[in-house]
Amino acid sequence: MNDSRPRSTPRANDADVAARVQRTIRDEIRATAAYPVPKSSGMIELHANENPWPLPDDVRAKLAAAVAAVRLNRYPEGAGDAVKAALARALPLPEGAALVLGNGSDELIQVITSAIARPGACVLAPDPTFVMYRIYAMQAHVRYASVPLHADFTLDVEALVAEIARQKPALVWLASPNNPTGRAIPAAAIERVLAAAPGLVVVDEAYADFAGATLLPRVLEFPNLVVMRTLSKVGLAGARLGYAVGHPAWIGELDKVRSPYNVNALTQAVVPVVLGAAEALAAQVAAIRAERGRLASALGALPGFAVSPSDANFLLVRVPDAPMLASRLRAAGILVKNLHGGHPLTANCLRITVGTPAENDALLAALTK
Ligand SMILES: *Cc1c(COP(=O)(O)O)cnc(C)c1O
Repeated sequence: MNDSRPRSTPRANDADVAARVQRTIRDEIRATAAYPVPKSSGMIELHANENPWPLPDDVRAKLAAAVAAVRLNRYPEGAGDAVKAALARALPLPEGAALVLGNGSDELIQVITSAIARPGACVLAPDPTFVMYRIYAMQAHVRYASVPLHADFTLDVEALVAEIARQKPALVWLASPNNPTGRAIPAAAIERVLAAAPGLVVVDEAYADFAGATLLPRVLEFPNLVVMRTLSKVGLAGARLGYAVGHPAWIGELDKVRSPYNVNALTQAVVPVVLGAAEALAAQVAAIRAERGRLASALGALPGFAVSPSDANFLLVRVPDAPMLASRLRAAGILVKNLHGGHPLTANCLRITVGTPAENDALLAALTK
């Protein structure tokens, strides 16, 4: 860097810039806030549904070697073939299913939404569910319709099927298990939605490892099913790798919409190594599931707390005053997700990621104070 550069450079008038932004950037974009990511360093992080455990040392040593061998001067392998081969070895995929990779499954939500975004197209999902479905629909200028869950957070299949008949959605999102509720959708309900939907149904299985149920082996059985997954919730949130699986005719179209080189070379080097350590990841998932049970009982025993059944790595908990509790926990060094002020069904609810036993104990101690 040249340290003789001038300290102040010519600068446009701020009011002029603001006026140009206002008349150029779409109203809906200016009206939204950026996705909130709290400062989490030094905190107990129970807000983002990550795996709290680091990878074992032997796996990290292999990662170091794999990363050292990456040719960072070259673009990554465009289709991510080594990653797809490693996923195909690790997953119960049917013969002939195709895969497309994303920079996190967030990117795939954007890709799928863009691919169906004809003028007048509709995206339909239950409510509350993962917020990015709505955000990318807004960005792509497609109509977003939603159907409330039952009060116990199970899917209202009748209402959803009726809304499908009314809206004829090009795309239906079903997160199973759902975020922020934690509940998986029974296969029979998903089959009814598949039978009713005229367009594509994407089952988002971000938390499937914690539920134990998956539609992956059946993905070719239905003409309109794509299953989407991510490595984020099982321990690789920092690597950003999502994938969608389906009939090659669907996946081939989605593949045209993603950015070239969307999955970087470091991620492509790291993922096969981690997937090769399947037992280590499975042990962490088992530990999280065991802690989920313990944490649910302990939270459920606190006065005024109601814990909803969870098939994921987090718990949805109704408390007497969620905003107050979330801010007191933050002051005590613990981050949880406050859902109050979002959907009416999750009034006074917190979403709490299952942490390590020590983190969960710290949470319980702070709550009993
Ligand atoms: C976390 C999450 C995602 C996004 O995960 P990525 O980190 O972008 O892969 C997608 N769907 C659901 C339901 C989630 O909870």
